[in-house]
Amino acid sequence: MSKSLQAIRGMNDILPEQTPLWRYFESTVAGLLDTYGYRQIRTPIVEFTELFKRSIGEVTDIVEKEMYTFEDRNGDSLTLRPEGTAACVRAVLEHGITGSGQVQKLWYIGQMFRHERPQKGRYRQFNQIGVEVFNLDGPDIDAELIVLTWRLWGLLGIRDAVTLELNSLGTSEARARYRDALVEFLSARLEQLDEDSQRRLKSNPLRILDSKDANTQKVLVGAPKLEDYLDEESRLHFDGLKARLEAAGIPFVINTKLVRGLDYYSKTVFEWVTDKLGSQGTVCAGGRYDGLVEQMGGKPTTGVGFAMGIERLILLLETLEQVPESIHRQVDVYLCAFGEQAELAGLALSEQLRDRLPNLRLQVNAGGGSFKSQFKKADKSAALFALILGDDELAQQVVGFKPLRGQGEQQNIAWDALAEHLEASFAQA
Ligand code: ATP
Ligand code: MG
Repeated sequence: MSKSLQAIRGMNDILPEQTPLWRYFESTVAGLLDTYGYRQIRTPIVEFTELFKRSIGEVTDIVEKEMYTFEDRNGDSLTLRPEGTAACVRAVLEHGITGSGQVQKLWYIGQMFRHERPQKGRYRQFNQIGVEVFNLDGPDIDAELIVLTWRLWGLLGIRDAVTLELNSLGTSEARARYRDALVEFLSARLEQLDEDSQRRLKSNPLRILDSKDANTQKVLVGAPKLEDYLDEESRLHFDGLKARLEAAGIPFVINTKLVRGLDYYSKTVFEWVTDKLGSQGTVCAGGRYDGLVEQMGGKPTTGVGFAMGIERLILLLETLEQVPESIHRQVDVYLCAFGEQAELAGLALSEQLRDRLPNLRLQVNAGGGSFKSQFKKADKSAALFALILGDDELAQQVVGFKPLRGQGEQQNIAWDALAEHLEASFAQA
């Protein structure tokens, strides 16, 4: 195939074999979020570039080198969204739904775009489900976000494979004081730092803490610790969160180097990580961003949220073999009809069945074919039962009812008794 007819590198098709798992995952999360009282918000995939620069921060990896930015026909600079929080904040501001202190508990799902080096668990188009809560500033809501993800891991059967890492970044004042101390310490050891970290020392020094470079990590052993700079308010908030997680029986580890890639976080930050996926081990990440709404032109409004990477969680479900068998059955019943008259009767009968049994997964043979070939298709469809309509059945107003998975013999069922017979058969199967 010529190159122009292939999908863009790092952007994947999700084929029919895989969509049942995606839908299972998505509906599990959506159902859970419903039960906790979160409501979905849908925002456009494209926004003004300025939105991401102002919210995520000019000197972050995302804005510096990962965004898909282009000029549209009006000459406006637009960007495919690299994450979901910025648009959420824009939307609540634009529609005034947080302005007088109203609490909003929101969630979103959708594609995100970042120009990164594609590899297992890291793509250029990827999918996230995220949650954002506005106007609740206590540790109770931070705890709720973590508790509900913990419940999700339980529902999905992956609890044993994930670990919660937790940190507090403090208020922005506390962080500024810490930043000064860190810069002073690292500036005296500049030549021992890797190139990226040297550059970040000016632009975004906190990010040096999660540098992957071994030498830089050695230097950091003796560096000032963020926890020693925490303000009283943040410390109390963090203690409140830890107490709640302990009460809920959720294990966690404190990772004082966890700073997150985005500029806007304050106080709580957390990541759910796994060692089962190689180096792309963070499956869900989030934190508090109390200053962001104001920074984007709104009234002071606290915020806290997280986003999970769907591709990584799907990979984890597959790796741990936690894909429920039941999600793959696409067909319950396959109807075979032989000849024009039988096809007409079969169509009428199948629509009657759909009226009576709206959830029945009924596949009607299309494209004709011999007895043998239709039967082969019925078998391949993985249906539990085949319905057979030929001249004899037509004359007697019955269908041949044939179990395909070895539960009993073929028998004739009258048309008007078919729905009930199917129900009873599925109850037994
Ligand atoms: P990483 O450190 O892995 O680059 P990040 O800090 O950039 O992650 P966030 O912006 O916090 O990631 O996004 C939340 C989650 O979305 C991540 O924890 C991950 O599961 C997923 N994610 C982020 N970038 C990608 C990507 N390029 N491909 C697939 N999933 C991603
Ligand atoms: Mg990243």
